[in-house]
Amino acid sequence: MRFTHVLRASAVAAALALAATACGGGSTTSSSGDPAAAENPSFEAGTTMDRLAKAKAIKIGTKFDQPLFGLKGLDNKPVGFDVEIGKIVAAKLGIPADKITYEETPSRVREEVIEQKKVDAVVATYTINDTRKQRVSFAGPYYVAGQDLMVKKEDTAITGPESLKAANAKVCSVTGSTPAKEIAKFVDAANIVLFDVYSKCADSLRNGQVQAVTTDNVILLGLIDTSQGAFKLVGKSFTTEPYGIGITKGDVKFCEFINKTLTEAVADGSYERAWKATAGKVEPKVPTLPPAGACS
Ligand code: GLU
Repeated sequence: MRFTHVLRASAVAAALALAATACGGGSTTSSSGDPAAAENPSFEAGTTMDRLAKAKAIKIGTKFDQPLFGLKGLDNKPVGFDVEIGKIVAAKLGIPADKITYEETPSRVREEVIEQKKVDAVVATYTINDTRKQRVSFAGPYYVAGQDLMVKKEDTAITGPESLKAANAKVCSVTGSTPAKEIAKFVDAANIVLFDVYSKCADSLRNGQVQAVTTDNVILLGLIDTSQGAFKLVGKSFTTEPYGIGITKGDVKFCEFINKTLTEAVADGSYERAWKATAGKVEPKVPTLPPAGACS
């Protein structure tokens, strides 16, 4: 008798806990674990939000070879923090995760795919900067990374960007990225190797064609995590890389909508969930959402 009581009490507690997660601060997760799509949200006519909400579909440009941020595996479904940020924005537009089309968007083509309207937004470890702002607008930032170096585990000669010359190191990065530009301050052009994607840099480091890979610390952490102990981070970041969501230049209303969505995602826990399910596996500290930049 007492046993059934206890059982009943715990069943009630469990049901209450479930209800609390479902209702507390609004229902934010669907049964698949993805952010729950808003039901019939309405937006000002003529806005990007209105167009996307009516279409119930969105195209997002992201990376396909960056573990933790944007990685397309054998099941063809991209995973990572950038992908989750895309899902959060889509959900607020009433678009469920399975109605997002992902386009692989290497660093060099990000502005171009936005200008040519091949995608509605780019979420792709995309640093906000003035050069890029001449061609696109940015919502966010939603994260701040910093450029770093990745070397082979046994390397002791490379300790930071200043050590690269003395080590006569060849350094790999990606065309059209901010790290490729920055590293030219430290290394002769002949010693910089550029590919289209970072996974090719990791291959070159593995087979000894280069002695270092440079890009944002969190991208390198993802490559290290999948390197089976072959690589390490030098660990001193030397730039600030605020990640923004690239959209059509001048789409102020869409930018403001995304910024509001990001703030709400912090409040309702979906930002934290997105981090924990992805990059948080390697970097457990949940980042604080940086203050939004001005939309222009
Ligand atoms: N955040 C840097 C950039 O936007 C490096 C990462 C990347 O290439 O995606 O250029």
